[in-house]
Amino acid sequence: MKDLSEQDLARNIPLAAAAFAGEKRVVRVGTATIGGEPLVVMAGPCAVEDEAMTVEIARAVKAAGATMLRGGAFKPLTFPYRNGHTFELGEVGLRFLRQAGDEAGLPVVTECTDVRQLDLVARYADMIQIGARNAQNFPLLTEAGRLRKPVLLKRGFGMSLRDWLGAAEYVLVEGNPNVVLGERGIVAPHTHHPQSRFIVDLQVVPAVREYSHLPIIVDPSHSTFRRAYVAPVARAAVAIGADGIIVDVHPRPEEAAVDPLQALDYDAFGALMRDLRGIAAVVGRTL
Ligand code: PEP
Ligand code: MN
Repeated sequence: MKDLSEQDLARNIPLAAAAFAGEKRVVRVGTATIGGEPLVVMAGPCAVEDEAMTVEIARAVKAAGATMLRGGAFKPLTFPYRNGHTFELGEVGLRFLRQAGDEAGLPVVTECTDVRQLDLVARYADMIQIGARNAQNFPLLTEAGRLRKPVLLKRGFGMSLRDWLGAAEYVLVEGNPNVVLGERGIVAPHTHHPQSRFIVDLQVVPAVREYSHLPIIVDPSHSTFRRAYVAPVARAAVAIGADGIIVDVHPRPEEAAVDPLQALDYDAFGALMRDLRGIAAVVGRTL
């Protein structure tokens, strides 16, 4: 695989590699800032399920110290079938999420899976998430760049840093400077078994710092896919210098409509937040 060359930095990713101009970007999403001294913690359900639960989760994660609300109304599900257990609420879910964010006082990040839904998602969201499976959907990246809403760009699980910064460049070149990178695990020869669905590439955090001015957060939920591994990876992410995390939280994780194996309950999330505050202080960050 090709490494980042001087030519890449100058010609292929001049905007994503603006680190060479000595810049570090701070992305503002409502009351949250990403890339400055405060860490961002985006927390909430994998999928938005119902109105009351979404409001409850928003209040609970806010009380524990989360700074943004996450939740999926459009889900990139592995299989095409939807039923009473596996569903996506679409615009109804966006409305619940917006309401929950407003009631709890948290800016909202949610995924757009299809360029045809981008305007709709943007009407409700403060930040547009582009997921791992769409990370090289170039028309979607281009339209997200034209939109001017902050973008959370997850890393595709087969993407090198070069690919990833190239994808970010698609958003930046349209005039949208507000891109945050999200490491969410990559596929490697020994992945795809229960103890290691993906490999969390923690060293990509300092690698991003080396080549780019863009903030980077880590998703310890979708990368590990396993509840017991979420807090350890989240702690390591903050220790290694990530600008924050995005984490699945659900009141009854084993009943979650999507990804029931990985969500934290409120107690586990509260304990994680206490740990992260201690680690943040050591690495010169606040939470
Ligand atoms: C998600 O955050 O809900 C999600 C589907 O993440 P990823 O695209 O990283 O798999
Ligand atoms: Mn999920």
